[in-house]
Amino acid sequence: MEKVMEDKQTVCPHCGQSLNKWSTPSFNFSDGLGWCTPFLYVCFNDECSFFKNSWKRMSEVYGQEMGYRYMLHPDSGESSSIPTGNKSAMKGDIIDAISETQEKEELEQRKKAYQMLTDYFISEDVDSILTMLLAEDGFGSVRLKAAEHIGEIGDLHAIEALANHKFTNEVIQKRVNESIKQIHKKNFTMECPFCAEIIKIRAKICKHCGKELTE
Ligand SMILES: [Zn+2]
Ligand SMILES: [Zn+2]
Repeated sequence: MEKVMEDKQTVCPHCGQSLNKWSTPSFNFSDGLGWCTPFLYVCFNDECSFFKNSWKRMSEVYGQEMGYRYMLHPDSGESSSIPTGNKSAMKGDIIDAISETQEKEELEQRKKAYQMLTDYFISEDVDSILTMLLAEDGFGSVRLKAAEHIGEIGDLHAIEALANHKFTNEVIQKRVNESIKQIHKKNFTMECPFCAEIIKIRAKICKHCGKELTE
């Protein structure tokens, strides 16, 4: 069983060629979701049946010169496809061919990171969860989970750290914004619309900037 998973992770099921690590673009695809991962596994074999057939279909049925490359999400193991209108497009972003040992190591590291995060959550170690969440080079899926946890157990002090950080991953940023709202709700607080300091929802005058707050 484990062997099957391994093969699925590293080899294209359509052509049998090793998948390449492809660094994900900073923009998001049309579904509005980011990939939440610094890389995806993509089959860059131009002779791959999946790629060739999709190109043929798009050209014959829709009159479009484009096709789809087979893609595997490293975290979820879900397979999908990436549209491309040019055979050499995206190839500049190939990181490197996957070695099986490297792949296994990363899988291990991700598992460990998840375990660590779960431990922090159970012991309500907000600071350690924050550290994981703010680490831009961490695993996307782990950081997204950390953002969720912060919303559940974070305090006002966490809001400050989150508000001062620019998340390059839009999906994580969105989840962080949700969590900030969650924390405010629990504490009956809000952000002052004038000075962005944390104030009580029922405050009539901001204690930081002195501006009057209308409901
Ligand atoms: Zn292939
Ligand atoms: Zn204010």
